[in-house]
Amino acid sequence: MSKKKTTPAQVNFATDWSYAPAPESKDHVRLQNRYELFIGGKFTTPKSGRYFDTINPGTEKKLAEVAEANDEDVNIAVVAARRAYENVWSIMPAAERGKYIYRIARAIQERAREFSVIESMDGGKPIRESRDVDVPLAAAHFFYYAGWADKMDYVAPGKKVRPLGVAGQIIPWNFPLLMAAWKIAPAIAAGNTVVLKPAETTPLTALKLAEVMQEAGLPDGVVNIITGAGTTGAALVNHPGIRKIAFTGSTEVGKIIQRSIAGTEKKYTLELGGKAANIIFEDAAIDQAVEGIVNGIFFNQGHVCCAGSRLFVQESVADIVIRKLKDRMETLIVGDPLDKNTDIGAINSKEQLNKIRQYIKIGINEGGECYQSSCQLPSSGFFHRPVLFTNVAQSSRIVQEEIFGPVLAVQTFRTVEEAIEKANNIPYGLSGGVWTDKGSKIFKVTSQIRAGVIWANTYNKFDPTSPFGGYKESGVGREGGLHGVMPYVEVYS
Ligand code: NAD
Repeated sequence: MSKKKTTPAQVNFATDWSYAPAPESKDHVRLQNRYELFIGGKFTTPKSGRYFDTINPGTEKKLAEVAEANDEDVNIAVVAARRAYENVWSIMPAAERGKYIYRIARAIQERAREFSVIESMDGGKPIRESRDVDVPLAAAHFFYYAGWADKMDYVAPGKKVRPLGVAGQIIPWNFPLLMAAWKIAPAIAAGNTVVLKPAETTPLTALKLAEVMQEAGLPDGVVNIITGAGTTGAALVNHPGIRKIAFTGSTEVGKIIQRSIAGTEKKYTLELGGKAANIIFEDAAIDQAVEGIVNGIFFNQGHVCCAGSRLFVQESVADIVIRKLKDRMETLIVGDPLDKNTDIGAINSKEQLNKIRQYIKIGINEGGECYQSSCQLPSSGFFHRPVLFTNVAQSSRIVQEEIFGPVLAVQTFRTVEEAIEKANNIPYGLSGGVWTDKGSKIFKVTSQIRAGVIWANTYNKFDPTSPFGGYKESGVGREGGLHGVMPYVEVYS
């Protein structure tokens, strides 16, 4: 008797299998309805009497209202910082200063879950990223610079250094807590006091950090956090009591700041925009390179100054790289930032979503071929599918201008020289990536591309010991490592 043959059921992995929702709990997060300014160690109502809403870009719902600092509030914060500088912080033994900074680092670690959830709710980034990248790196910066506090005598061998006074610090919305750590940690380790202004769409983790400062017992006024938009930032920049401006944000605003402080003795560092080239040679490990391309451009929805937003693929492997990339893009999950399966969260604001859509229209009108993954998008919130453009020219606006979204422009090249020439033909110079099996090619490319950071066979690796910053229109100065302390001190013999 013959057995009846059965055909095995066909499973289509692209459509039949999906992940069950895995949302991170919000139960442990305590948000207030209203946040005041953090000045002189206390939360104080603004003299302006004004507040603005901060919303969750994943749901479009209001999270809290936040004080808007006017000129008078800025002045009160700078005076509080100056008083703390003169009476406490600059005269405290350096090792004691270091202890406070270690405490801040530990408190961030202890409250890591709370920080990650709030960061994802306020800014839209996937919880996996805020949990595994933003918050641990923020703690790592405080740990690292705590170690510098009592070693200031060694930052400039043979010379002495002293702190500057009050630093005014202004940060963007793409890495709110991490940027606050990049700014505050080296400044206070070197003996300065600070007034920090977070971006208007993402103020909540900086205000939580203010609670950490209180918990750590940091002397009043050493760190002041004021909220508001561009006018608040401008008031801080122009305040005569500020000795140093540390700004991270757009090139456009960076230029305004540079102009407005010209002729003053204010020191400055400007960490501005970017349009990095990620270069894939034919001898690269292709599958790894494809992962690197995905990480380079779709990490944090592409809201990354060092995003690998221009892809250069050697012509001989262009077809296979683009095919694999499209396949991989189809697997990316766009959705709820608090879901642990999410790869691409919410675009930070309606304004930014409109900007991305506008650039996609520009790319298509310029003759670019636009490919978007076919994934479902949530019905509310600001979301965008990952996008890839081919058939673009070096002169295309989507190749030359920073979009700050999940949009990749792909070009091909034949020789190493051509790749270098094209990579450098841009107003920016912040970062880059090179993928090849050959060490000699890595040395040639990395030494000839004018960018502050270049990764080889990897992308988006950050460490507090490593300086970060740009050439050309990507800015002035470096943050991270010893380089990150230097802008906060005056060197004298
Ligand atoms: P943005 O320049 O619009 O705003 C940045 C900050 O500056 C915000 O806090 C804002 O309120 C404030 N601001 C606005 N106008 C001001 C003014 N006239 N004076 C003083 N402050 C003012 O930038 P954004 O859209 O928030 O951030 C995105 C930009 O930041 C991108 O260009 C990105 O590349 C850049 N960025 C650079 C780095 C780096 O390290 N190079 C890191 C992250 C982001």
